[in-house]
Amino acid sequence: MRPTEVVYRARAFDTPDDSGFRYDDDLGLAVSSEGVITARGAFASVSADHPDATVIDLRSGILLPGLVDTHVHFPQVRVIGALGMPLLEWLERCALPEEQRLADAGYAAAIAGEFVASLIAAGTTTSLVFGSHFAPAVDALFTEASRFGLRVTSGLVVSDRMLPEPLLTTPERAHSEALDLASRWHGKDRARYAVTPRFSLSASDPILEACAAVMADVEGAFFTSHVNENPAEVATVAGQFPDRSGYVDTYDHHGLLGVRSVLAHNVHPQDSELAVLAHRRTAIAHCPSSNSALGSGLFRLREHAAAGVPVALGSDVGAGTGFSLFKEGLQAYFVQRLLGDDGLALTPAHLLHLATAAGAAALGLSDVIGTFDVGKEFDAICLRPPAGTALDIGLRHAGSPDEALGKVFALASDADVADVWVGGTQIASGGFLRALSPLRRG
Ligand SMILES: [Zn+2]
Repeated sequence: MRPTEVVYRARAFDTPDDSGFRYDDDLGLAVSSEGVITARGAFASVSADHPDATVIDLRSGILLPGLVDTHVHFPQVRVIGALGMPLLEWLERCALPEEQRLADAGYAAAIAGEFVASLIAAGTTTSLVFGSHFAPAVDALFTEASRFGLRVTSGLVVSDRMLPEPLLTTPERAHSEALDLASRWHGKDRARYAVTPRFSLSASDPILEACAAVMADVEGAFFTSHVNENPAEVATVAGQFPDRSGYVDTYDHHGLLGVRSVLAHNVHPQDSELAVLAHRRTAIAHCPSSNSALGSGLFRLREHAAAGVPVALGSDVGAGTGFSLFKEGLQAYFVQRLLGDDGLALTPAHLLHLATAAGAAALGLSDVIGTFDVGKEFDAICLRPPAGTALDIGLRHAGSPDEALGKVFALASDADVADVWVGGTQIASGGFLRALSPLRRG
């Protein structure tokens, strides 16, 4: 048996499946020095079994598994909040000018610092991150994430048309730069590589073929991109790929879809595309605040569930309006309400599942994170709302755990995330970040 360093005592929620939540108001979690949960049960019993362990009492807050963001753009932290435009205009006026600035390595390093700090502040311990079009900027992201031990899957974003010239590459360069980055980062600590064409609109068949070659060369690599986000985008892609049956097929044709693939949005899918995604076990990153901000449309969650397509949550920063997965959960709930009878009524348990275990599953990490089960690593956040805030009042007067969890999704924000652990190591405490290694300059 591994040595146990700590027993956490907590009021804790998690979602071993999507049918409901598990709540314990005096949970004991024994965590080994390697950060693995070695025992779970009533605190009295776990503490009796581990008499030498340090006990950390977290009952003044609420303990949740670390949040999982399956779609978030590293270069866009500074362009959050530009409202009033549809997708293609927003890209041209806001996102793409900022993305070009990451050609400057110093600028990219500053953005990486802000981006990683923003993830941690929101309680996001695991993420699938859209990287940069510039390889040194992707290095900066992985470097900064590794300083905190965050679980980040990311890669070089590639495009060869329809974008400003500095953001374009060639299939040959895309392939060699990706292999180079993957050789440095894929499988190093908690980092993994994701092959990332921006979207088919800006990626021709030759560059998608180069992406497939990287997938073949890098064992265990992930694939991510965008799909069916906006009607004008979908129509343009249809015109660019007349030989494909739809947007999903532009990726599937090259063998890019599988269990390690995550596509963002899918607001306007054909039924046949849902069947393909289900068959490939490719997950969709649902990004409701982005879909609303850009007016992209209302996500058909019921149809995805009926077809058997896995769905998790993404913030889609910077089209999304912030890093908090609590807000994305709430927005997902709103969207389903607005769909009326076509919507899927989401409970607080569903929202927690989407923000944690479903994200872990989409990223192939169900055995590692997502719940507080024995054998998993201790990735967790503790919510402690400031006294007198609506969330503090609400939690103190909640009539049931279900009510309390509903209040968390209705009211919680970054300010309520007091503590953050990844793999048993605390990386934020009382709102302050604690890196594992110092910032290296030079
Ligand atoms: Zn996106």
